[in-house]
Amino acid sequence: MESIAVVGGGLAGLSVAALLAKQGKQVQLYDAAMLGGRATSQRIKGYTFNYGAHAIYGRDQSVLKTIIKNLKLEITWLDFSSAKAKYEFSGHLTAAPANAIGLLKTEVIGGTDKLRFTWEVVKTVLRLEKGEPELSIGQWLIREKTEEDVSRLMLDLASSNFFTTEPENIPSVVYFDYYRKLFRTRKPVSYIAGGWQVLIDELERVIQEQGGTIHRKTKITAIEEYEQGYQLRDRKKTEWIVNRVVLALPPRDMRKLALPASVQSFIEPFAQYEPVEVLVYDVGISPYLKTPFSYVYDRTHQLFVTDLSHYDPSIAPKDGQVLQVVAYLAHPEVGNPDYLAEKVQHIHRLLDQHYPTWQERLVVERTMKRAIVQEIKWKMGQSGLPNFMQDGPKETMAFVGDWCEGEGQLSELSFSSALNVAATWK
Ligand SMILES: Cc1cc2nc3c(=O)[nH]c(=O)nc-3n(C[C@H](O)[C@H](O)[C@H](O)COP(=O)(O)OP(=O)(O)OC[C@H]3O[C@@H](n4cnc5c(N)ncnc54)[C@H](O)[C@@H]3O)c2cc1C
Repeated sequence: MESIAVVGGGLAGLSVAALLAKQGKQVQLYDAAMLGGRATSQRIKGYTFNYGAHAIYGRDQSVLKTIIKNLKLEITWLDFSSAKAKYEFSGHLTAAPANAIGLLKTEVIGGTDKLRFTWEVVKTVLRLEKGEPELSIGQWLIREKTEEDVSRLMLDLASSNFFTTEPENIPSVVYFDYYRKLFRTRKPVSYIAGGWQVLIDELERVIQEQGGTIHRKTKITAIEEYEQGYQLRDRKKTEWIVNRVVLALPPRDMRKLALPASVQSFIEPFAQYEPVEVLVYDVGISPYLKTPFSYVYDRTHQLFVTDLSHYDPSIAPKDGQVLQVVAYLAHPEVGNPDYLAEKVQHIHRLLDQHYPTWQERLVVERTMKRAIVQEIKWKMGQSGLPNFMQDGPKETMAFVGDWCEGEGQLSELSFSSALNVAATWK
């Protein structure tokens, strides 16, 4: 039977391993730590905090839907309520333009601009607008002389979906491609009940049921060409021989491995690209603070708070509540302590205003000052790593992860690259 090594056990590695195992391949999965990578959950004092948010955008159109169906995973969806999503606007809250009703009600743009924005949505969905390869969305909006408030709204949306402080630098082609799909969805945002951990457990179950082997805490240090396949080695000098390899670890980790020279030079430019980074501030409070909203976006400071336990009570103890604030970070400033301290101040201001008394109810808090949401930011001058080397061994080496080419953004890139590799190697 053909043997395949998957190096990296994040969402991408687990997905490709489960899909290949289901196809009857002999799969060995290696992860340097525990499984889950950037999608792990942590339980503190009865509160479950995901390492990152776990929103799936447009689940009815998503690649994850295909993976769930193919592998018969047991996942329960919790759909975001657009009616409970708000934007801060001129010192008060207004409806977030997350769907047609939100757009009708919101004060962030006026009546005529709402019509203009709707026209942009129609053009995008009907493929009348596709963007241009040499233009960023910011440049495209200027060229088209798009009204200021309509432009601002189009960029605000991208800020939220791409988790970026510089939505204007997203390639226009990527922008329209992304929203063509998202504007058609009936499920703009959904969560997995129980958090990422449930998906990780399900993928692990499939791998094991199909006879795959999982090597936890096994850091691969070298991959060498060996006869018709590859030889892998870990820190303890244990060796494995396989026919094919899927590299499911970020390019900046990949380059630390001893790899064939052609692979090293192929990945090197991608290891230099800028990632998408955020500051995450999670709080567990008790008793529950009831509010008429579950999401508030501070568009001035580009941060948002979600009442995650409103959707998934299982992540908090009885009468407890998990609030997660995510602040988008400008790359040149991520190492600047003053900038980060200022972000925390903005976060406290947001919580004080919309969840007064949260400090008195505080049970546990967790701050991650620099979390990598996506290993390669989709901006002009940067692109995702292809799933296969153009001039390399397409039949024996592949790449998956959110740093790869694929559909959507964030984990959708991990899932779509996994699905593409599994389909190619079927
Ligand atoms: C704060 C935050 C918020 C987020 N919000 C969302 C969201 O709302 N929606 C969404 O879809 N996505 C979101 N994401 C992104 C999502 O978490 C990632 O896209 C996804 O988890 C990436 O998975 P991956 O498998 O591609 O990469 P990773 O998770 O980085 O997996 C790489 C794996 O490789 C392993 N590894 C590294 N080196 C070695 C080695 N030498 N040997 C063996 N193993 C190795 C690592 O241990 C790791 O497990 C968020 C992320 C963060 C941080």
